[in-house]
Amino acid sequence: MAAKIIKGGPIAEEIRAELAQEVESLKAKGIVPKLSVVLVGDDPGSVWYARNKVKTGEKVGVVVEVHELAADTPEVEVVGLVEKLNADPDVHGILVELPLPAHIDKARVMNAIAPAKDVDGVTAVNRGYVLGGQEDLALVPATPLSCIELIQRSGVEIKGKRVTVVGRGDTVGRPLAMLLLQKGRDATVTVCHSRTQDLAGACRWAEILVAAAGAGADHLIKADMISPGAVVIDAAINEKPDGSITGDVDFEAAKEVAGAITPVPGGVGSLTTTIIMGNTVKALKLQKGLA
Ligand code: NAP
Repeated sequence: MAAKIIKGGPIAEEIRAELAQEVESLKAKGIVPKLSVVLVGDDPGSVWYARNKVKTGEKVGVVVEVHELAADTPEVEVVGLVEKLNADPDVHGILVELPLPAHIDKARVMNAIAPAKDVDGVTAVNRGYVLGGQEDLALVPATPLSCIELIQRSGVEIKGKRVTVVGRGDTVGRPLAMLLLQKGRDATVTVCHSRTQDLAGACRWAEILVAAAGAGADHLIKADMISPGAVVIDAAINEKPDGSITGDVDFEAAKEVAGAITPVPGGVGSLTTTIIMGNTVKALKLQKGLA
């Protein structure tokens, strides 16, 4: 039987409807959530993501302002802008679009963001909260949180399940593994990487399989690596020579085996901007003691 297709769009819309209500009640108290996006240079992907945040902000009532800096802006000026935004009480969230130009030290800029405003969970403090099981205090990275929302909101039970995460990257795999392990979610988690000896076996073991390797467009995860009926979440983005994107999973073959599966595009990636808005509202509430 063909798998249920878990589409990101309707789930993102559901989350936005909840957020819009929450923002309305904050506005009734005279508080308007605001996200500042820092865009250095004109990388087409980053420009698109920044614009998309403005549009998503409009849908939920979060004010999004984009600070556009020239590609040759010195690192000290980028850090200076971040520090100015840190000190601005009207700014509740800060996000620096990646990639940054080569002359800028990414870690230095990311760690300049005040943890309380770090809406993509990139600072050591927010990483530490996730690692230490203090998710209520954390601003959780958007892509792993999107994976969790997709699983939970499509009615899939995580508790006690065998979950395999393919990829131990800082952005997706590693934080996601920690979120799945969290008390309350209670998954039994296996994390795979490029040195894993029996990737196929580890994938077949899983009742929920999350692909987050970005291992190239020729599909790392084949249908015969998926246990019949398993839930498959594909967080990867691989660019094909024609400019289109695909995930790590051979979607067409896998949907004949899996119980449920996310497409690429149209799956995990459809949620991330909405999750950033949610994190901006959470940041505001933590800052004001309303959480
Ligand atoms: P990353 O830091 O590059 O990590 C990739 C991980 O995959 C590494 O742990 C690597 O193993 C592992 N890997 C690579 N090739 C493999 C193979 N052949 N077999 C098994 N494991 C392999 O990646 P990331 O930044 O976490 O991102 C992961 C993916 O998510 C990328 O495709 C990225 O584009 C995508 N992404 C999507 C969104 C979205 O909105 N949907 C947002 C952010 C990122 P080693 O550790 O051994 O090198």
